[in-house]
Amino acid sequence: MDSQDNSIQACGQLFIVATPIGNLADMTYRAIETLKTVDWIAAEDTRVSGRLLEYYDIKTPMFACHDHNEAKVAERMLERLRAGESGALISDAGTPLINDPGYRLVRKIREAGLNVVPIPGACSPITALCASGLATDQFTYMGFLARSGRARTVQLQTLADAKHTCVFLESPKRIVKTLQNLADVVGTKEICIGRELTKLHEEFVSGSASDVIAHFNKHTPRGEMVVMVGVSQTPVEITDAMIAVEAKQAVYETLSPSARARAVAQKLDVKRSRVYDVLMASS
Ligand code: SAM
Repeated sequence: MDSQDNSIQACGQLFIVATPIGNLADMTYRAIETLKTVDWIAAEDTRVSGRLLEYYDIKTPMFACHDHNEAKVAERMLERLRAGESGALISDAGTPLINDPGYRLVRKIREAGLNVVPIPGACSPITALCASGLATDQFTYMGFLARSGRARTVQLQTLADAKHTCVFLESPKRIVKTLQNLADVVGTKEICIGRELTKLHEEFVSGSASDVIAHFNKHTPRGEMVVMVGVSQTPVEITDAMIAVEAKQAVYETLSPSARARAVAQKLDVKRSRVYDVLMASS
């Protein structure tokens, strides 16, 4: 049984509605129905969203909710939701709150004990990732990188050290500089750029940082882009300390030293004799 009533007729709820990131046909049926049914729509930029609403013949009144007025508008929205109205939050494109306004608002509404209902749809980092060919079982989303200073250095180091795919957003103006920074720190890691996703000039560019720089030297970077950094092709080196940690896991507790060495060796893909030596040294 659902613990939350997600029916779009229910009152006093805020719907977080994803909108297309380029291709207008990526609006979901549920998103259109929700935007037609709610009492009001809070939009990041009412002029941008006005075009979408017109396309889908949505006549619901709209007002602005952006980074600069979120705190003030949130108070009014809360009052209206408490009075039994339902509302929707949309951003200029994609999923609200994902590098778009709304976090403080959602927190406030939930703290007030009211329902926040996500209406999923397009989201550029996920759209890019699923067609990149990079590992998707684990990934870190980093938003926009800091432009300079210590924060940027730390983020670049995170990208260098990551053992899983990292995803971030970048502007066409800064992409070449960022790729140059990546070339210095990420070594053999594969980069993939998803550009103009769902639009006419959609493109995926993959290769090492220098391959991608070479591509953008030939083709001036334009449009919106998501950058993904894959895992290193160089296998992780298993240290004796890692072997010792693995061998201490409870699953091996009942095994004899030689059976334990065999099991750990199989798990870490290292030689049994090496594991046995580590076991003997640490016993
Ligand atoms: N909330 C949005 C989402 O769910 O995709 C992201 C908003 S963020 C302010 C805007 C950035 O997302 C752009 O600068 C670009 O990096 C990325 N982006 C948005 N649409 C894109 C598209 N169609 N193709 C590639 N990247 C896109």
